[in-house]
Amino acid sequence: MAQEDVFKKLVSHCKEYGYVFPSSEIYDGLSAVYDYGQYGVELKNNIKKYWWDSMVLLHGNIVGLDSAIFMHPTIWKASGHVDAFNDPLIDNKDSKKRYRADVLIEEHLAKYEDKINKEIEKAAKRFGDAFDEQQFRETNPRVLENQKKMDQLQERFAKAMNDVNLEELRQIIIDNEIVCPISGTRNWTEVRQFNLMFSTEMGSTAEGASKVFLRPETAQGIFVNFLNVQKTGRMKLPFGIAQIGKAFRNEIVARQFIFRMREFEQMEMQFFVQPGTELDWFAKWKEIRMKWHQSLGFGADNYRFHDHTKLAHYANAATDIEYRFPFGFKEVEGIHSRTDFDLSQHQKYSGKKIQYFDPEMGESYVPYVIETSIGVDRMFLQVISASYTEEILTKEEGSSDSRVVLKLPSVLAPVKLAVLPLVKKDGLPEIAENIVKELRFKFNCQYDDKDSIGRRYRRQDAIGTPYCITIDHQTLEDETVTIRYRDSMEQERVKIGQLTDIIDEKVNISTLLKKL
Ligand code: ATP
Repeated sequence: MAQEDVFKKLVSHCKEYGYVFPSSEIYDGLSAVYDYGQYGVELKNNIKKYWWDSMVLLHGNIVGLDSAIFMHPTIWKASGHVDAFNDPLIDNKDSKKRYRADVLIEEHLAKYEDKINKEIEKAAKRFGDAFDEQQFRETNPRVLENQKKMDQLQERFAKAMNDVNLEELRQIIIDNEIVCPISGTRNWTEVRQFNLMFSTEMGSTAEGASKVFLRPETAQGIFVNFLNVQKTGRMKLPFGIAQIGKAFRNEIVARQFIFRMREFEQMEMQFFVQPGTELDWFAKWKEIRMKWHQSLGFGADNYRFHDHTKLAHYANAATDIEYRFPFGFKEVEGIHSRTDFDLSQHQKYSGKKIQYFDPEMGESYVPYVIETSIGVDRMFLQVISASYTEEILTKEEGSSDSRVVLKLPSVLAPVKLAVLPLVKKDGLPEIAENIVKELRFKFNCQYDDKDSIGRRYRRQDAIGTPYCITIDHQTLEDETVTIRYRDSMEQERVKIGQLTDIIDEKVNISTLLKKL
């Protein structure tokens, strides 16, 4: 099945099974805003807990924070967001569709990469074990030709972005004959800058309302609380502050479901270090964060780093962790070495000294910062994309010969187990209810006695419940039940008294944290 079709199915699955709904749906929706349903909110909470515990529980030198969404407007002046949090936008005059000029060029660059990868794949098949990828890359004329074009374009693009040269961006689009995907034409407008921050008024107009912004990132809340946390927590460098919270961006083009939203959630951690040590810490955090993603078991091949060639003026290193979504490799998390830019700017604009006294060096300085910044919603999409599976069944289980199953990591699954009496009589429902009463203190459980057992299994597969416990007549005799495993569909007979331990071992977040 084409990847676009898989993606469409996944989006409708999310809606049909209570994971994600379009916002304000009965009013025809609100563009690029979504609501999380009864299972979505559980999955989202589990993702957040996995991130939070991996940061705050596992690191003695990382503490949490929950700062407000509204902040003093000068903060956004100091951070550079008022003047420079812009995207270059361009319209196609025929389709009237709006695009980010930089994204159009990046997509064009990705086409060269695809061409190269296809050549490599073909050659690898042809040469088998004798294939030497590096040698092929260095000698194959088609690969060299595409690589050269890609490098030239990349260089020109990076320069235009660094110089904020909007005319040049347009010229790159024209020169590379980039067309609008809708109209297929090259009838482009000029490129203009568009500020992504939402603003609103605080206070009534009578008392002189002031313009405030909805934060476009949570990081600034951490920077402006640096001294508060450092002093009250008696924190010594290096240390980090972690925060999870909503952020808002008036994205020009918001497509691809929850990948790019106008209201979304971020999990950010700012790690404060001694100047001069930041690049070592940057390398360490790259490794730690990649491990966090890969511990979920979605396959190492589905991740890659994308190191930035265009660095923001305040950064001295930056990379993205990209995941292979059904629509290609895309950013899930950014890791940035932000130097002392943010703290120095707040020092300048607030007039307050924001420094750390280093007892070992015997001097005060503005710390350097490594930031790890991941979108909860993009992480959610990663988990759902990796888990969504359609299977043709060879085994006789229930009536249907195919199933849709969300193979979610058990630790993240919204419902951990379903308890199902085989029939609605002979005391089986009562036993099932008692099991739920016992287990619900530890796990999110569901009781279900409607329809055939096969249909009930399918329902649980579709929402990703890793374990189904079935109560049958043998239970009455020997207090055993069957436990059915979602992915293998295998069943095992166990004592009721063993259930807590068996399930806890599999769904406890500490099993995941121990892998880190
Ligand atoms: P992009 O290039 O995709 O616009 P970005 O580089 O602007 O992303 P950052 O400012 O580094 O993103 O934000 C950190 C993380 O926040 C991103 O890696 C992403 O997971 C998430 N994020 C950013 N913008 C959005 C959005 N509009 N919707 C959902 N998540 C987002």
